[in-house]
Amino acid sequence: MPAVPPVASKTSPTFSPNDVTVLFVLGGPGAGKGTQCARLVEDFGFTHLSAGDLLRAEQTREGSEFGALIRDCIKDGSIVPMEVTVQLLENAMKDTIAAVRGGSGGAKARFLIDGFPRKMDQAFKFEEAVCPARLVLFFDCPEDEMERRLLERGKTSGRSDDNADSIRKRFRTFVETSMPVVDHYEKEGRVIKVDATPAPDAVYRDTQAKLTKVLGDNF
Ligand code: UDP
Ligand code: MG
Repeated sequence: MPAVPPVASKTSPTFSPNDVTVLFVLGGPGAGKGTQCARLVEDFGFTHLSAGDLLRAEQTREGSEFGALIRDCIKDGSIVPMEVTVQLLENAMKDTIAAVRGGSGGAKARFLIDGFPRKMDQAFKFEEAVCPARLVLFFDCPEDEMERRLLERGKTSGRSDDNADSIRKRFRTFVETSMPVVDHYEKEGRVIKVDATPAPDAVYRDTQAKLTKVLGDNF
């Protein structure tokens, strides 16, 4: 990826919502986005793209100009400059669509974009330059429960940010920078909110019911 990702200067979307369905999946760190996305992939045929996973892959990619920047942001719980993440997502969407076209073809591509957008500039850029989103799935969970889950995950995840100090910073970024994104979409009536406090099976039942109710078969 070049030092200035091409998406930085784009002003019209690469994909039309007629061809591609995008759901943003938001929620605090440890809310259970990844867990719920994995289930939605099985039942609804979505492709799951985690912004954090794409950044971690770019961080360790041989020759990447962004490795050090990404490493520092992740550890610090701050947000990587939006051009980088938006470009990684566009690249992944293009790869997925190319692979599908080579296979069955025809079907509408459906993406769950997990952990993105976490800042207003990312939301605007992605919808302007990549694809307008259909709606936001927001997993709502109290901080003490999220902290418990992250500390538990940290025992085995190997993630540089699953420790008490990084978790505290990630919570602050979530409240100050990412919640305004949820509020913005909420005002537009584009948010499906799910209580993510219960166990995964119960959260999934609620998610499935609400998604089906809003989207029907038309997505
Ligand atoms: N991140 C970012 N921009 C994004 C998504 C993630 O900069 O759009 C960085 C940020 O530093 C964040 C970290 O990646 O704290 C981990 O994100 P991930 O989604 O993996 O964490 P989760 O919220 O799922 O625990
Ligand atoms: Mg995640």
